[in-house]
Amino acid sequence: MYDVVIIGGGPAGQSAAIFTSKAGLKTLVIDNEKGLTQRALLKNHYGILETSGASLVETGKKQVERFGAEFVKSQVTNVTKNGEAFDIKTEDGASYSAGQIILATGSNAKLAQTIGLKTKDGREKYVKTVIETDEAGHTSIDGIWAAGVAAGVSVHTIVTSGDGAKKAINLISELKGERYVDHDKQPTD
Ligand SMILES: Cc1cc2nc3c(=O)[nH]c(=O)nc-3n(C[C@H](O)[C@H](O)[C@H](O)COP(=O)(O)OP(=O)(O)OC[C@H]3O[C@@H](n4cnc5c(N)ncnc54)[C@H](O)[C@@H]3O)c2cc1C
Repeated sequence: MYDVVIIGGGPAGQSAAIFTSKAGLKTLVIDNEKGLTQRALLKNHYGILETSGASLVETGKKQVERFGAEFVKSQVTNVTKNGEAFDIKTEDGASYSAGQIILATGSNAKLAQTIGLKTKDGREKYVKTVIETDEAGHTSIDGIWAAGVAAGVSVHTIVTSGDGAKKAINLISELKGERYVDHDKQPTD
């Protein structure tokens, strides 16, 4: 069983996975690799002069794997509650179990609707429907969180990756029972 399964491996999902796996939570990212970020040319992501969306996502994946998270390429078809945990089913017939779920599925709200999460109209261009969340990122089902474009934030990688981190920090803080901070320092000589 995973502590956290993150559905969607774009900037929001991967950024969330960096935090959850670095915090020691057993993390799985499931992504169908159909993300539109692959087509982006980024000149507005703070700290990076210019890069392709494909390169951002590829580097993000290496960063996530460095902290021990696992990746599966597949399409998630449903998530159901099973006692205290969730069962996650994929189109290839596999199933996974998780204590917490983060939905970072971008502009495609189909899975959220299948699960029965409360949704609302999106306000961003090209985003018709988003998942209803509170400020922390909780959805209408306890234990399921939403991040990035799926949660209605602005369609820019700096914002969606920041939102993934924010929701993950909130999730980790709740599990640990105190506010979580992840700071590394330069070694002193
Ligand atoms: C052509 C183009 C140019 C862009 N240019 C810029 C730019 O210059 N600057 C900028 O800041 N932003 C740009 N963007 C926008 C940016 O790429 C996105 O807004 C942002 O990255 C979205 O991040 P996200 O993680 O929320 O969603 P996404 O990157 O969309 O990731 C969601 C992932 O979840 C997957 N997924 C969805 N449902 C399922 C499921 N059921 N099972 C498994 N996987 C699933 C999707 O296929 C995708 O891989 C551009 C986008 C495009 C398309």
